[in-house]
Amino acid sequence: MRFWQKGMINLALNPKVKFFMQTNRSASVFARQFVGARDEDQVIKKSEQLIKKGIRVSFFHLGEYVKNKKKILKTIHSLSCLIKSVGQTDLDNQISIDPTQAGLLHSFSSCRDNLMKLARTIKEKTADSLNGEHFLMLDMEDASVTDDTISLCACLADCGLPVAITFQACLFRTPLDIDLLSGQVKAIRLVKGAFAESSDICLTRKNEIDQQYLCIAKRMMDNIELNHNFCPVFATHDDRLIGLINAYAAKNDIPKDRYEFEMLYGVRTKLQGTLAQNNFKIRVYLPYGKDFWPYAVRRVGENPKNIKFLLKSVLR
Ligand SMILES: Cc1cc2nc3c(=O)[nH]c(=O)nc-3n(C[C@H](O)[C@H](O)[C@H](O)COP(=O)(O)OP(=O)(O)OC[C@H]3O[C@@H](n4cnc5c(N)ncnc54)[C@H](O)[C@@H]3O)c2cc1C
Repeated sequence: MRFWQKGMINLALNPKVKFFMQTNRSASVFARQFVGARDEDQVIKKSEQLIKKGIRVSFFHLGEYVKNKKKILKTIHSLSCLIKSVGQTDLDNQISIDPTQAGLLHSFSSCRDNLMKLARTIKEKTADSLNGEHFLMLDMEDASVTDDTISLCACLADCGLPVAITFQACLFRTPLDIDLLSGQVKAIRLVKGAFAESSDICLTRKNEIDQQYLCIAKRMMDNIELNHNFCPVFATHDDRLIGLINAYAAKNDIPKDRYEFEMLYGVRTKLQGTLAQNNFKIRVYLPYGKDFWPYAVRRVGENPKNIKFLLKSVLR
């Protein structure tokens, strides 16, 4: 599985394949499976459809490891526009961003300034919101930027800005990182980890990662007692883990509205619907934009069965 995942990550990073796929009309079938919309107006409409089903949204402007300064500004501008519109409609939506989309490959300070701009806009535009918490969720990329991502999060939190962060259960360091940051942030999103890191820093067996995920999830739930504003976010499609987390919450009298599940757009939509119908808080990570290839092919890396969507589009 790690070999397959590494292969798909390499495919995601190959500029020639990316150019071919993103300029090829038939590839849009593949894109549509995992990408919600091409622009801000369309993605707001999509979020309204999901909200009607009881599913909240986390917007993500497509693009990763961005070096081009114009693209960085475009991402910040697009997300700022979205925050302003979302602030007006007052849906309980959030913004997710990779630090390397906000300029981390250029400098820590330019990335920090861009993230601060977004977080300030969120704070201003949602100040009167009655509908849930609004914050900027930092995604966690590969291990070379973990320290910087944590420092960025701490910088924003120190300035009183609404920020949250993602941690990867597979990394050995994660339990300690969570203990250090959980008092400062509004939410922590726990994922298994999408990067094939070295076994020196990371668990590599699926059963070990699942075990570590559950152990951290329980610690995050225990934190609710200590920090009443803290919201644990469990970003997984693993129904076994979801069942165990809900059982732990029920046993410890933790109400359903004190924690949240989050899944990717286009993945396990039935399970998303079932959780919403049973009054669990469920959010969908909703990517939009034109730079779809790296994002979509990573989904094939996570689940080899998704190769069918790629084959369907290229064999048309
Ligand atoms: C909201 C969200 C945000 C994320 N942010 C980050 C991040 O910032 N950094 C990071 O490293 N990773 C991130 N990830 C990815 C994450 O690390 C995992 O790679 C991914 O979620 C698959 O793990 P899983 O927990 O669903 O469990 P798995 O054990 O991989 O999957 C459980 C079951 O879910 C289904 N499933 C899982 N993935 C897919 C898929 N792509 N297509 C179809 N079915 C699938 C399969 O049926 C599988 O059996 C994020 C994931 C989500 C949901």
